[in-house]
Amino acid sequence: MSLTYTAFCDHVAEVRSRIAESCARAGRNPAEVRLLPVTKTQPPEVVQFVVQHGGFEAVGENRVQETAEKRPRVAGGLRWELIGHLQSNKARQAVELFERIQSVDRDKVLIALDRAAGEQGRRLAVLLQVNAGNDPAKFGVDPEAAPALLEQALQLPHLRVEGLMTIAPLSDDPTVARRTFARLREIRDALVKRFDLPLNELSMGMSGDLDAAIAEGSTLVRVGSALFGARG
Ligand SMILES: *Cc1c(COP(=O)(O)O)cnc(C)c1O
Repeated sequence: MSLTYTAFCDHVAEVRSRIAESCARAGRNPAEVRLLPVTKTQPPEVVQFVVQHGGFEAVGENRVQETAEKRPRVAGGLRWELIGHLQSNKARQAVELFERIQSVDRDKVLIALDRAAGEQGRRLAVLLQVNAGNDPAKFGVDPEAAPALLEQALQLPHLRVEGLMTIAPLSDDPTVARRTFARLREIRDALVKRFDLPLNELSMGMSGDLDAAIAEGSTLVRVGSALFGARG
């Protein structure tokens, strides 16, 4: 394990000051933007640093199987959130492992999650993942189809939709990410108006583009490499 606890704490301080600067530029209160450490590919010892640090409630993981192996080996009361693509045949296991699922992008997955949550006697928190950058390489419901997906989610008694998530397209042009995040906020605002309900969480921004995401209203930045170093 090459990352030390001290180095991790230094990285947390750096990312938090980046968040504070972005909030200051955007005229936002830094308390409105939470930091979700993304621990995919990191060993349980490193996830334990997140617990030890004390400043976090949750971590993000992108694979069901990896989390099934890792979560039992991490002590302490973290919440685990799924941020990676989910197949409906893994829904039951995902509901057992995660407190919230951010990557819900089609009706088949919605229905499978609702059924599994019902069987486990839970109401599962979810975000709808929207392909706000219209990137053929990304998962996520198309912006035009988001209202229908939300309408369906609202009929499912064991799910609670808390907001939206997006991943910006990879691009050398920084305005691409910024436009994607602005688009997600507009989609959210339109859905709130149309369905008359709160969708407070806007999960957008990663190590490379969190500043643009905060400028456009992100409430949750998902950060891996800036906290844990580059993934192998
Ligand atoms: C890996 C990942 C992140 C974190 O990416 P970094 O560039 O390492 O900060 C955020 N969101 C999702 C969905 C991811 O898969």
